Amino acid sequence: MKVTVFGIGYVGLVQAAVLAEVGHDVVCIDVDQNKVDNLKKGIIPIYEPGLTPLVNSNYEAGRVKFTTDAASGVEHGDVIFIAVGTPPDEDGSADLKYVLAVASTIAENMQAHKIIINKSTVPVGTADKVTAKVNEVQKGLNKDVTFDVVSNPEFLKEGAAVADCMRPDRIILGTKSEHSEKKLRELYSPFNRNHDKIIVMDVRSAELTKYAANCMLATKISFMNEMSNLAEQFGADIENVRKGIGSDQRIGYQFIYPGCGYGGSCFPKDVQALIRSAGAVNYDAKVLQAVEAVNYRQKEKLFDYIMRHYNNEINGKTIALWGLSFKPNTDDMREASSRVLMEKLWEQGARVQAFDPEAMEETQRIYGSRPDLTLMGTKEATLSNADCLVICTEWQAFRAPDFDLIKSSVKDDVIFDGRNLFEPDNISEYGLHYYGIGRGKSI
Ligand code: NAD
Repeated sequence: MKVTVFGIGYVGLVQAAVLAEVGHDVVCIDVDQNKVDNLKKGIIPIYEPGLTPLVNSNYEAGRVKFTTDAASGVEHGDVIFIAVGTPPDEDGSADLKYVLAVASTIAENMQAHKIIINKSTVPVGTADKVTAKVNEVQKGLNKDVTFDVVSNPEFLKEGAAVADCMRPDRIILGTKSEHSEKKLRELYSPFNRNHDKIIVMDVRSAELTKYAANCMLATKISFMNEMSNLAEQFGADIENVRKGIGSDQRIGYQFIYPGCGYGGSCFPKDVQALIRSAGAVNYDAKVLQAVEAVNYRQKEKLFDYIMRHYNNEINGKTIALWGLSFKPNTDDMREASSRVLMEKLWEQGARVQAFDPEAMEETQRIYGSRPDLTLMGTKEATLSNADCLVICTEWQAFRAPDFDLIKSSVKDDVIFDGRNLFEPDNISEYGLHYYGIGRGKSI
């Protein structure tokens, strides 16, 4: 099938590569000339396991092309994905300017029927806005080409995006059009062989499903963080509590890890956007507000431990920091807990020596050459002359470190672990002091 994808980001690029891999003929459009030029040279703009060989082999086979030429892209695709960003507006609501700009471009250039698929995460009612925009632009151009707008939200997880798109848990199609449903069932049939994963519903329900899913996951995290703060006060260990409640099948073990807060491009912005959408229909979304507030507070948790440990005096301290990306297996630093921590440490006059397996370039891009940040080539190198060690991201490579080396290198013999990677009792055997999240007796 001929497919066009607007937006070559995490969602657009992975979706395009996966669709090309199963044989579809895909053209990707982006406004970023540099990104397009790099992709043509085999340089992939993001780190995602398995993505580089997938993109490059399909590019070489001619099944996926990259261009900034929107007109040819619109002409190419029978189905056109909108996968551009929907960043938070000033008030936290989703900014639709990129989505509506693509809608205008499609309207200007289309000469035959198109199925326009909203893959970006967009508030309920956006399909109507896209429809109105296409109609308005066509009217101004005296055109009347037929089209349909379908909601098909994306549920991939960064760090496992290729696998998630190859083997999705579900494919949500928000449409009332039999023609669009038939075409999209055909498009997705290679991913739908084991059992029918396609759930067809009305457009508004599809749009809300995406927000509901992300807000539910964010709620689980903030709930566990709230419990971890109580565990700390009560002298309980949240890791025991986690195992105790996870064994209840109605709760389950997934996504109930306490930590130093959630980040990334999706949870913070989607929780905020749904709060704003709720406000627009005069609904006070109290659970969502609490989820956001708890997360905001949780991102300061490691800083609070550090300040408490050092009696509020960290000026001149050197902090070894492991993990910069907002979660493992990605180089994405958007809303990462590490950023909140580093910025607070710098305010207090501390220096940071940091390492991340993938996010070093991104950190350099964001923070440039700050004199109080040194990026080190290995996790061990960060320990040299450091006063303490802090862990912000649960990369596998951090799970079984050389504790003797930490003990002999870190001057103040203390680890602040924002992801509960270690057992407090084990750490104390090495003569190290340990702060985990919600590990009651150890703090
Ligand atoms: P991104 O910022 O990584 O990529 C967006 C791309 O769109 C950029 O390359 C940008 O240059 C391009 N773009 C902007 N305007 C354009 C235009 N007019 N024409 C063509 N290209 C244009 O964004 P992302 O992380 O891929 O997210 C895209 C959408 O998918 C968002 O709504 C996001 O909430 C949603 N989503 C993201 C994830 C995720 O894990 N990243 C998962 C599910 C859904």
